Amino acid sequence: WFQGQPQRKFSTHPDTSFPIEVRKQLQTQGLTPPNVESHALQAQRCLKQLESKTSPIEKYIYLSNLRNTNVHLFYRLVMSNFTALTPLIYTPVVGEACLKWSDIYQHPEGLYLSYKDRGSLAKILQNWPQSQVEITVVTDGSRILGLGDLGINGMGIPVGKLSLYTGCAGIRPEVTLPLTLDLGTNNEKLLNDPFYMGSRMKRVSPKEEAEFMDELMEALNKTWPGIVVQFEDFKNPWPALEKYQHKFACFNDDIQGTGAVILAGVMNALKVTGVPVKDQRAVFMGAGSAGTGVAKLIAEFFMKEGLTEDEARKCFWFVDSKGLITNDRGDKLAEHKTYFSRDDNQGKQFKSLSEVVEYVKPTMIMGMSTIQGVFDEAILRRMAELNERPIIFPLSNPSSQSECTFEEAINFTDGRAVFASGSPFQPYTYNGKVHMPSQGNNMYVFPGIGLGSILCKAVHITDEMIYASAVALNKTTNEKELESGMLYPEITRIREVSVTVAREVIRQAQRQNLDREKSIIGLNDAELDAWIRTKMYDPAAHVEGQTFAKFPGGKSLL
Ligand code: NAP
Ligand code: MN
Repeated sequence: WFQGQPQRKFSTHPDTSFPIEVRKQLQTQGLTPPNVESHALQAQRCLKQLESKTSPIEKYIYLSNLRNTNVHLFYRLVMSNFTALTPLIYTPVVGEACLKWSDIYQHPEGLYLSYKDRGSLAKILQNWPQSQVEITVVTDGSRILGLGDLGINGMGIPVGKLSLYTGCAGIRPEVTLPLTLDLGTNNEKLLNDPFYMGSRMKRVSPKEEAEFMDELMEALNKTWPGIVVQFEDFKNPWPALEKYQHKFACFNDDIQGTGAVILAGVMNALKVTGVPVKDQRAVFMGAGSAGTGVAKLIAEFFMKEGLTEDEARKCFWFVDSKGLITNDRGDKLAEHKTYFSRDDNQGKQFKSLSEVVEYVKPTMIMGMSTIQGVFDEAILRRMAELNERPIIFPLSNPSSQSECTFEEAINFTDGRAVFASGSPFQPYTYNGKVHMPSQGNNMYVFPGIGLGSILCKAVHITDEMIYASAVALNKTTNEKELESGMLYPEITRIREVSVTVAREVIRQAQRQNLDREKSIIGLNDAELDAWIRTKMYDPAAHVEGQTFAKFPGGKSLL
């Protein structure tokens, strides 16, 4: 941390909250100003500094510098100001950071592996300064949020997401690895930008990418056996998931995490509407990784509620950019679309969403199309005619792409909509009643899935474990939240939610005999929760006045 002073290495920044005893022990006395400060005061100073930054991207840069210089202070700050700061470390501001990555670059932030490094990936992994890694988030930068191919500028995503793993589920920051694959980019603007820091070449072919991924997965598991790998923002995420899901401990949050979090909300929505599963008719606007991932998991739930697979599958109608997905539409359907493709249309093709709504008479409409406003007044009013309590989930992000706003959903359904969105909305008062919006944020599940998989040393992460995470999340919503119309728990309870999700993921791994950590098998739920909590990183573990030996989590800092 001190320029030109390589002979003494501290793995943590000399911190102004270290008591004098600690400073003596660390030989850092004099390296910080003399006052011993409380964590609260430190956080206040940071917030004041943060406030002085006028643009979101400056705030992002400030926070990323703080994480790089004083990681414990960064996480104390994030955890005590969770709602205010997550938009700055993840969406929406991370989107802007990725767009500008090569311009704002200061620190490596993670590991970059290039196509030309193939053959030596395992060797390069050795360069990572931490000897133990338990989880990595990996992207190829090919479809960053809704921003398209950003090449290595996509690094903001693994970095941001892993910060949430730490903030939400207490995964120790030093065992996380942000990983970005440099497999070229088809983004002409980047290829012509002298500041762009990735290889100046077009994306490699799918076959070349697949071979690279094979080597990567082997190398990761050779270097850090059992490492949890989370795939994120791949334009074509299915091949890797299919190939590695039953070979390594891995999952894809865009497909599976989204599926779990939305299923949890749908389960609560069905409690509110009281309409039985067999009468559900779901229209999905958008048939990408999110849409099909969500429907697959909801269908799984319908089957557990007694429907056959065929009956469950037939509860879904998908609309993509060409209209209702049917077997006789005349185009070759991508593989992920064929499962829900319809054959009940009697030769008729339905182009617009309103035609489909008229045809299907849905109980729920789910938006994962990135088409702003496509749930328009007419469609919302029709949903309110068709249903006592219409389920309206405009899930596209960011807010500017939402299929409708919360206000519109409430206004055009006389306040009867059962609502969850992808992006946050403010509470809205209609006819004197305050309506609470729900946000189906993936943050509710992926940190717990990661934590549970790490702690039980899962061999694989199965669909059943993902399903278990949805059921767990669903259970964490309390009576008070449900009564106020919320389909998800308060985000401020996220650490508690992550413990429950982790516990149920572990339980499912145990049921499938995919756990390698056998010492926790006999624990009951309360004991298991307590055990999980002892494993969670707590950046405030260094309480003012405590001795250094106990910080952090009893680990030596040197
Ligand atoms: P994606 O794979 O690109 O899929 C987008 C889908 O929308 C495609 O099926 C596309 O049709 C369809 N579409 C595009 N334009 C359309 C139009 N004019 N009419 C009808 N359909 C149209 O993206 P994704 O990863 O699934 O994400 C979709 C959205 O969901 C994003 O906004 C994302 O932010 C959001 N999301 C939300 C959550 C959450 O709430 N927790 C989680 C993940 C994602 P074609 O297949 O014909 O191209
Ligand atoms: Mn994503």
